[in-house]
Amino acid sequence: MATPNKARQHLTQTLADTAARYQRESVIPHCPSCAAPCCKLDKLVLELDWAQTKGLWKLEESRKEFDKRLASGRGPIEIRPANGLYYAHSRPCPAFDPACGCTVYTTPLKPVGCSDFPVYENEGEVMADLRCEAVDIEALKARLQEALGPEARLRERADRDFPFLVTLSARLPGK
Ligand code: SF4
Ligand code: SF4
Repeated sequence: MATPNKARQHLTQTLADTAARYQRESVIPHCPSCAAPCCKLDKLVLELDWAQTKGLWKLEESRKEFDKRLASGRGPIEIRPANGLYYAHSRPCPAFDPACGCTVYTTPLKPVGCSDFPVYENEGEVMADLRCEAVDIEALKARLQEALGPEARLRERADRDFPFLVTLSARLPGK
């Protein structure tokens, strides 16, 4: 019989694998025909480190010079610095090509948030962002149920402040 830790690890892995498969099979194929691509950043905020900011915006100057430019209001208006990172919002991501989607998807320039959005596993739960039109929460729940087995209890809860953010957690019988 599996120890509680092993059972928890197995549950987390199953959730992570199922979330990744849902992204691969149900979300990404829809992206080329999406009516409201997330890469336009009209709803989402992109979190970037310096290397990603420099690479995506094709910056030639040093970080110090760039920070000065931002502080003086001469930098890209869609970028805000905070806590040693950069946040882009309100203008399309420079790596977004309306004809073929993300031009850096398989490179280190792609921010982590782009892999996670809209469905991912986090600390033993599955997070789903309903702002993505490809997310069908009932279909995702059915996938999770299938992967975990009929006895697993799935629980769905929407974030109080941002109800489009939904968390799915699972309990196995006797756990
Ligand atoms: S919102 Fe969803 S379907 Fe649309 S481009 Fe983004 S991930 Fe793809
Ligand atoms: S890096 Fe790629 S996936 Fe991320 S917002 Fe830009 S175009 Fe979209």
